[in-house]
Amino acid sequence: MKTLLQLQDLDLKIDAYLVQEIEIPKQKDRFEIHRQRLAAELEESENRRIRLTLEQRECEKDIEQRQQQIGKYETQLLAVKKNAEYQSLLHEIEGLKKQIALKEERIISLMVETDEAKVLFEEDKKRIETELKGIEEESKRVDAELAEIVEQRATLESRREPMLANIDAILLKQYTRIRKAKKTGPAAVPMNGESCSGCYMRLTPQVVNEVLGGKNNACQHCGRLIYHSELHTKDSTD
Ligand SMILES: [Zn+2]
Repeated sequence: MKTLLQLQDLDLKIDAYLVQEIEIPKQKDRFEIHRQRLAAELEESENRRIRLTLEQRECEKDIEQRQQQIGKYETQLLAVKKNAEYQSLLHEIEGLKKQIALKEERIISLMVETDEAKVLFEEDKKRIETELKGIEEESKRVDAELAEIVEQRATLESRREPMLANIDAILLKQYTRIRKAKKTGPAAVPMNGESCSGCYMRLTPQVVNEVLGGKNNACQHCGRLIYHSELHTKDSTD
């Protein structure tokens, strides 16, 4: 029983490492989400700058077209005979000039916005690059942590095999079966008063007497192996 309890200590440590081996990579999933969010943020910052530049070009094109139109009207003015037609053309030209003035105003504010967007983009870029570097370092730390855990588990597992030969075959079989059924937690637990310390239920007098007499028995409620803690001092395996 003593060796079985040592085996159980080992198995519980291995279990804990296995849990960590599942949990640790989950941190990297969070890093990946963060990384994607930062990339989207940077893209949005750059897109804003691009949108402003495009709108400015659009305004410049509009102005150019209107100026060409004004040029055409001015040529027509020279050939026009009727005063009404002349006035109408002047009116058109006036309208186009007003539109050009508005576009020019828009360009000035767009230039200011573009300058601001450029500064913001550079700031965002710098900040995001720093954050990405931080994520990269964290990611490496997580990889190293995981590798360490895997190595430690392998060491523990190598200690397991030699122990098996020193355990009563029937006891080992029972232990293995309970562990498989329970999946987590100890398969062998000490008797606590007259109760099972695994499920906290009261044991039958027969089981209590047998355990007190040094025999191994199983809890009739949860099936765990019950041992007398005073008869089996648990020596740590490390
Ligand atoms: Zn129990």
